[in-house]
Amino acid sequence: MLKSLPSHHPKPGISLIPPILILLGLLPGPAAASPQPAPCHGAPAALAEDSSFPPPAAHDRGIDVLSYDLVLDLDPQERRLTGEVAIGMVALVEGLTRVHLDLVDELTCLAIVQGGRPAVFTHGGDSLLVDLAAPLSTTRPETLRVRYEGRPPAHGSFRAGLMFRRHSAGTNGIPEDDMPIIANVSETWSAHSWWPCKDHPHDKARVSLTASVPDTLSVVSNGTLEQMDTPEPGRRRYRWREAYPLPTYLVSLAASDYVSWQTDCPVRDGLGGATTIDLGFHVFPFDREDAQVDFAVTCDAMAFLTELLGPYPFAGEKYDQVEIKWGGAMEHPTASSMPTYMFGGTGALDVLVVHEMAHQWFGNSLTPAAWHDIWLNEGFARYCEALWLEHAEGPAAYADFMRTLGPGHHPDLFVGDGRLGDPDPILPNLLVYDKGAWLLHSLRLLLGDDAFFRLLLSYANDPALVHGHATSADFQAHAEAIAGRGLERFFHAWLQTEMVPRLGVSVARNGTQAEITLQQLQDPWLPMAVPVVLHDAAGDARHVLVLDQRQRRFTLEAQTAVDAVSVDPDGMVLMLPADAPAPALDVQGPWPNPASGDGDGVRFAIRLLETADLEVRLHDARGRLVLRTRTGPLEATGPQGPAHSWTWEMPADGSLASGVYWLEFRGLGRRAVRKLTLLR
Ligand SMILES: [Zn+2]
Repeated sequence: MLKSLPSHHPKPGISLIPPILILLGLLPGPAAASPQPAPCHGAPAALAEDSSFPPPAAHDRGIDVLSYDLVLDLDPQERRLTGEVAIGMVALVEGLTRVHLDLVDELTCLAIVQGGRPAVFTHGGDSLLVDLAAPLSTTRPETLRVRYEGRPPAHGSFRAGLMFRRHSAGTNGIPEDDMPIIANVSETWSAHSWWPCKDHPHDKARVSLTASVPDTLSVVSNGTLEQMDTPEPGRRRYRWREAYPLPTYLVSLAASDYVSWQTDCPVRDGLGGATTIDLGFHVFPFDREDAQVDFAVTCDAMAFLTELLGPYPFAGEKYDQVEIKWGGAMEHPTASSMPTYMFGGTGALDVLVVHEMAHQWFGNSLTPAAWHDIWLNEGFARYCEALWLEHAEGPAAYADFMRTLGPGHHPDLFVGDGRLGDPDPILPNLLVYDKGAWLLHSLRLLLGDDAFFRLLLSYANDPALVHGHATSADFQAHAEAIAGRGLERFFHAWLQTEMVPRLGVSVARNGTQAEITLQQLQDPWLPMAVPVVLHDAAGDARHVLVLDQRQRRFTLEAQTAVDAVSVDPDGMVLMLPADAPAPALDVQGPWPNPASGDGDGVRFAIRLLETADLEVRLHDARGRLVLRTRTGPLEATGPQGPAHSWTWEMPADGSLASGVYWLEFRGLGRRAVRKLTLLR
């Protein structure tokens, strides 16, 4: 997904102002006042804003969904649908008698049938609890047919779900063309706002989608169009089927009065194969001319990504880009939804085409096992934007792009405090995108180009992950296999802490030798690579110093007397100046994490620049304040002094249930937020 306007790399002469104005008219709800990503300053506040939107139950519900067949009848005039979803499933535990599905309360469940027999169900709290007519077995798949109807609500932190809109209002307002647009954005938890399902990314299933619409509209969805017919005068019915398994958030429907065209795109892939990919384009009639220009990059981008990442994951199908009216783009498999604001006839948003296409590998084929690993989608897609710019425009464009993502540009980049993996409501925030891209860039510097690009290919084509699920640990394992050494310290620092590298540098020149001492001043330290240039009479010599400990001295030899030494001359290492002020409050931990709650509590390491008695607030996963306590007076430690070890004793009465909690430390005008998982 790429939400809101990309803030970087506009082509010269392209003003961002008109699209911003357009966007203001487009986004409903609270987002309308603030089209740019909201700064994120801590978990509890952000979660509290979202507390009206509890995520569905965990994925482990005793069933494995095998297939969804959606049959939908859509009425754009009334903004209603009636539908039947056939859900094929097996039990994960023998003899299961109750199934828990997700469906918002705004929709009405009319009936559930199992093998011709009606099943008893209750519907409330956005859950459908189905008492099965016969117990479900682990080996014999059964089908539940759920009939339902209603008006899908604006849902989730994006106020999206299935959206019924028209051309006339807002963007591209052309009164004489007031045709409907029906389109969905379901990431992260909004699939169940328009169809009953087990709404969790961990359970992929085969999906078919049949949609009936007024015959002035056409429907685009995932996979292959199998059939189109006329169920009754004035209506047209489209039957799409996706051959590869999908998680619920990637099931797509887009309908409007599209004009469509198709091109063949011959590509070679990074594993040595060659094929032709069917590219499709579906846009509103008045955007056709502009879209020809704005989509012109598509085949070049596909050729680039297949070379970089290996075969297009949806072999035998197509890659469509489908215009929708929403404030962002969404990487639906084989049918990316592209926002109407990208069409200006300038080709200024090539990176948006690349971003959504890169998700076909990262997210759509390799799907995060849980939303905690969402950076595996967005960090990779964002980094592919940088790699595209390097390919298309050269190293300077790559460097410019990466620098725009750095901490000076996005003040929230390192405020996440271990939240890199927490998707909702963090997805609107750019943290997972930009810090994820910097992780990959830093890994590339550390491993070298040859190893790094082999890593991308090996990870994206791992048979154990392709069209399945991936975790950060999977990617780390691939990186370690390619590097031939452990990278735990690197991944821990990037993914689990707020560290921003700060480097102390000292240089001594002695004739043709330069002695360079690098010292990492931040906690924790991590393996990092630092480019260095030696300047002498013979010219400039580039080196990459691998700093695999906190401090190290390097001796470099020049051809003639060393005139000068430049450390990171191009600004390609993400770091703050060595004299940047240390944070007034720094909290690391907790340990252990996850915690059982019956031991000796959990421990934190705290550094502060002044003596303080910190307030500690515990919030649950929905942002509710559960309890408050204080650390008691803690003496100033200074930025490098030994940290205080402070232990939080959990309530002995067992009142805290298993789950995710946030501990917020307040004092010295700062907040530090740490995440704790409690497993009782
Ligand atoms: Zn994305």
